Amino acid sequence: MSDDWTFKKADELDPLAVDVFREIRQEYHADLAGYAIALLFMPKPKVSRGNIVVGEAHVLGWRTRFLSGLHGTVTLAWEWWQEATTAQQQALIDHELSHFEADDEHERLRIRGHDVEEFIEIMARHGAWTDGLKYAQGALQQRLPGMEDPDEDEGDGAGTSVTIEALGRTVSLGTHPEAMEKLRRAAERVAAGAGR
Ligand SMILES: [Zn+2]
Repeated sequence: MSDDWTFKKADELDPLAVDVFREIRQEYHADLAGYAIALLFMPKPKVSRGNIVVGEAHVLGWRTRFLSGLHGTVTLAWEWWQEATTAQQQALIDHELSHFEADDEHERLRIRGHDVEEFIEIMARHGAWTDGLKYAQGALQQRLPGMEDPDEDEGDGAGTSVTIEALGRTVSLGTHPEAMEKLRRAAERVAAGAGR
């Protein structure tokens, strides 16, 4: 498919994406039930401040709400979406929907930032040094009890992830070749700094 388009509605490109979106909404985001959120695709991931952006969550202003009846949009990178596993697609949608917070008093959505943000190098050098990172570590260990020791990867790219950004905030999730390359370089800098 050519890239000479800016946005498309998800149902035009991949009706299954709309199904995944609906399922994740129903399962984990019941608080958003009264709000209309459209799923869109953009052709490629964006690069913002050096990070690869494969998904974005936006709250629409009151004029657009008034005219369209929509409260928010989730926009995903089509190129990433096609390569991603179902588990990654679900995680990305869940992630973007987590950026929305229902403001029932004003019948609108608000944007919520990430619970945890950190550089890979800092986590490698200092571990879980904040409460947020400790919670994140606990959540990851609960989810992935068999998580491999990163020292055994030897920089082969296993276990690396893509950075997702919305509204200037970033989080790691999934895999993408460019992100893997970026993280591999970061890991090499860490290894060099540690004198290994
Ligand atoms: Zn995010």
